Amino acid sequence: MRYHNTYVKLDTRLYHRQAPTPLDNPRAGHFNNQLAQQLGWADDSDLMARWVDIIGGHYVPAEFAPLSMAYAGHQFGQWAGQLGDGRGLLMAQVIDNNDQLQDLHLKGSGLTPYSRMGDGRAVLRSTIREYLCGHALTQLGISSSNALGFVVSDTPVRRERMEAGAAMMRVADSHIRLGHVEWIASFAPDLLGEFTDYMIDTYYPECRESETPVLAFLQLVVERTARMIADWQLIGFAHGVMNTDNLSITGSTLDFGPFGFMERFNPAWINNHSDHTGRYAYQNQPAIGHWNLNTWLPHFMRLTQSGVTRDSLADCLAVYEPTFMQHYQQGLCRKLGLPHQSASLTLAFEFLTLLEDNLLDYTNSFRALLGLVAANEHPYEQQLLETMTSELSSEAQEVWQEWSTRYLACIQQQTHLSNEQTIESLRTNNLVYVLRNSMAQHAIDAAEQGQFEEVARLFELLASPYEVQTIATALDSRPPTPNAPQLPISCSS
Ligand code: AMP
Ligand code: MG
Repeated sequence: MRYHNTYVKLDTRLYHRQAPTPLDNPRAGHFNNQLAQQLGWADDSDLMARWVDIIGGHYVPAEFAPLSMAYAGHQFGQWAGQLGDGRGLLMAQVIDNNDQLQDLHLKGSGLTPYSRMGDGRAVLRSTIREYLCGHALTQLGISSSNALGFVVSDTPVRRERMEAGAAMMRVADSHIRLGHVEWIASFAPDLLGEFTDYMIDTYYPECRESETPVLAFLQLVVERTARMIADWQLIGFAHGVMNTDNLSITGSTLDFGPFGFMERFNPAWINNHSDHTGRYAYQNQPAIGHWNLNTWLPHFMRLTQSGVTRDSLADCLAVYEPTFMQHYQQGLCRKLGLPHQSASLTLAFEFLTLLEDNLLDYTNSFRALLGLVAANEHPYEQQLLETMTSELSSEAQEVWQEWSTRYLACIQQQTHLSNEQTIESLRTNNLVYVLRNSMAQHAIDAAEQGQFEEVARLFELLASPYEVQTIATALDSRPPTPNAPQLPISCSS
């Protein structure tokens, strides 16, 4: 691997150098061979042979430079003070085969100075959920962390019940969170200039060309965050805990805990059981992204030489909403296989209302449009369409008939796209499989009995989520019955 450990060269107040605390008897859960190739990990026989020891905390290769990072954050809208890596370590930074800097971060690695009341560990169930979700989003082309592999162990970890300790090697383009800057502003303000330079030089070097690099950098953070959240909305992803310590400065999805994928469409859906007020409900995510950035940006006003003023920050943040809207609306039109124009958007919002009014499955209903537009070549989608319409009341049937007639007419009349392009757009923008909570739970139940085949099957399924696959089971595309109680999924575990 091409090591490029630069964080460890920053001021020592920003981190604590330490090794992981080994887990008892670590055993392989799953390993991501494709990512190992990309990282250059696969070219090193020592790393390949000893990956379980490395993730289990028993072996730290000489080139690694493990450390826990200090950061702070706003949690559920309140200033939470110092947080930091309480159960994870930045193990190494490497340049991958795409010349992209990647962090290797071991999550579940034991106590650090930032553990506060926690035990420094992660349990198997949350590790599997994060492992599969990072993979799923990455395969969808959504900016996200991913993971190289995970292990399970005999180390007991107490949650509501006793569970098995696990660890995962997370891979992300950065582990710098909005909360890093919040920590610096509170605890080491003299470091803000140096740290901002590091963020720009490492992650946004193109901003050096600007007359005001800091503003150019902040502008890109705002835009990337808006685009990431638009991507989430389009696939029905709810992050669940969008605290400022869980948002990356690169606009990559980070820290999967109480996340979920939309099943029966309900914009007010809250996946996180600990989120009593619904702050992080699906429909609030775009506004929360804005709130987080609005809380974060003013710290840079301390950099008086950088051209950052209250007005320039306001201009910077003003780009958030149009960036989000454009990305979201374009994506929504692509999901209908229509050009980006107001008539397409009207149809899209009517379709969403139909889904909401009838509690229809988000993923399956969009995919069912292929069964409407090109039934003969798409038997799976034709079946989805039948299931969908069978769930409609007779009144809703009429609404659906009227809508689908107008939709098909719109496809015929518009000249921007050929029929083949419409079908291709439907096929490549509407998923067949998302990681439903029930699917993850099924894999977790087996893994807790020592069986990891189901994790491996889901990993394979989610590698090609736009293809109907023979390895799929009925559970993989079945939403819960309407109004069924949700599986309880809550914050850190
Ligand atoms: P999260 O809700 O996972 O984003 O975590 C919020 C903060 O709590 C971060 O500083 C984590 O490092 C810390 N944390 C979460 N779980 C644990 C744990 N089991 N032990 C120590 N720190 C933890
Ligand atoms: Mg976190």
